Amino acid sequence: MKKLALHWKILIGMTLGVLVGVLFSNLEGGKELIQDWIKPFGKIFINSLKLIAVPLILASLIKGVSDLKDISKLSKMGGRTIFIYILTTVMAVTIGLVLVNVIKPGNTITEKTRTELVQNYAEKTVKYKKAAESQKESGPLQALIDLVPPNIISASSNNRNMLQVIFFAVFFGIGLILIPEEKSKPVKDFFDGFNEVILKMIDLIMLAAPYGVFALLAALVVESPSVDLFKALAWYAFTVILGLLIMIALYNLMVYLFTKKTPKFFINGISPAQLLAFSTSSSAATLPVTMERVTEHLGVDEEVSSFVLPIGATINMDGTSLYQAVAAVFIAQAFGMDLSLSAQLGIIVTATLASIGSAAVPGAGMVMLIIVLQQAGIPEAGLALIFAIDRPLDMCRTTVNVTGDATVSMLVAKSVGKLGEPKVKNWDDNY
Ligand code: ASP
Repeated sequence: MKKLALHWKILIGMTLGVLVGVLFSNLEGGKELIQDWIKPFGKIFINSLKLIAVPLILASLIKGVSDLKDISKLSKMGGRTIFIYILTTVMAVTIGLVLVNVIKPGNTITEKTRTELVQNYAEKTVKYKKAAESQKESGPLQALIDLVPPNIISASSNNRNMLQVIFFAVFFGIGLILIPEEKSKPVKDFFDGFNEVILKMIDLIMLAAPYGVFALLAALVVESPSVDLFKALAWYAFTVILGLLIMIALYNLMVYLFTKKTPKFFINGISPAQLLAFSTSSSAATLPVTMERVTEHLGVDEEVSSFVLPIGATINMDGTSLYQAVAAVFIAQAFGMDLSLSAQLGIIVTATLASIGSAAVPGAGMVMLIIVLQQAGIPEAGLALIFAIDRPLDMCRTTVNVTGDATVSMLVAKSVGKLGEPKVKNWDDNY
């Protein structure tokens, strides 16, 4: 019998997870059963992905940068990467703003629902506000200071410090280029081998992916709030999801126009990473799989993917920025506020920056949304309006975030002549 492709296995796992979740939500004690006996396997799966994120970045970036053999190539690639990342983010925010102004989902919220939601979620809003405050208190150059870790061991001990690890790896790679070949060779060979081991570990973890996503989704369903709340927010959710779908279509178009690779090729190659992003709501946890898919299945040279993807996972969040723009205007509409054009233009800037500053973990986009709200003078209490539906939207926006990173890696690879044929032709061969 023909082996079932990985993305189908993952999709089956997800569907079964949702079904089991729904079934157990309706059974007495079902929720606790899932939480005690199924949820932990989802957690173990995510942990195993996170476990290899830091070693993967270190090994692949050091190898990637040192393979460049020339620092000018690095700055050329770096410049293009950042430029395209910012461009796609601004594009996403603009799409979000246009849609939310045309659809006006906030006008569908009644006074009663608004009061109910604000009361129900007031406590959570305070928690998020505190988290955002601590981000805001720092000076304008804090992001730059944060980039340079005072200690690489402690930086590597927290997945949130991904940018610091990236900084160290690039710096180390540059050092490696600048020393004589006979000295650098053993170090490079070591990281080459190390990188291969990590890639193999990703293959092994992916064998468990269908089971991991099953557990994650079953737990998510039993813990989700009532369907009534979802209904009240249906137009808001529709606006965000429509925007995200437009982004996915644009990515396919960009890939086709610039690399001549068809949407079928692109989606076939990247879909397991998309499904994982959807199930985990974390670009950081998905990073190892994104790296593997992009290099093995989309033909992006490792020199490019090892540089572009870890940076993308931390700073390029098109889905998040689009969502922040829609959410901010939605809240303003629900509170009967009219946002001027200049306030909306301000949202383009703040949502772009806020998405760059959002960590690649579940719910991070919502914390940073507070900053967008504050800047635009929209009541922060409005955050309570969108809590109920944040997780499903987080799953969708994370999928877009990861797809955006993969797209940019293909464009950058093409522009520097490093886009080749995929190593794995039958794209499920290595599982
Ligand atoms: N969960 C998103 C990510 O990891 C960030 C967010 O929008 O909350 O990409």
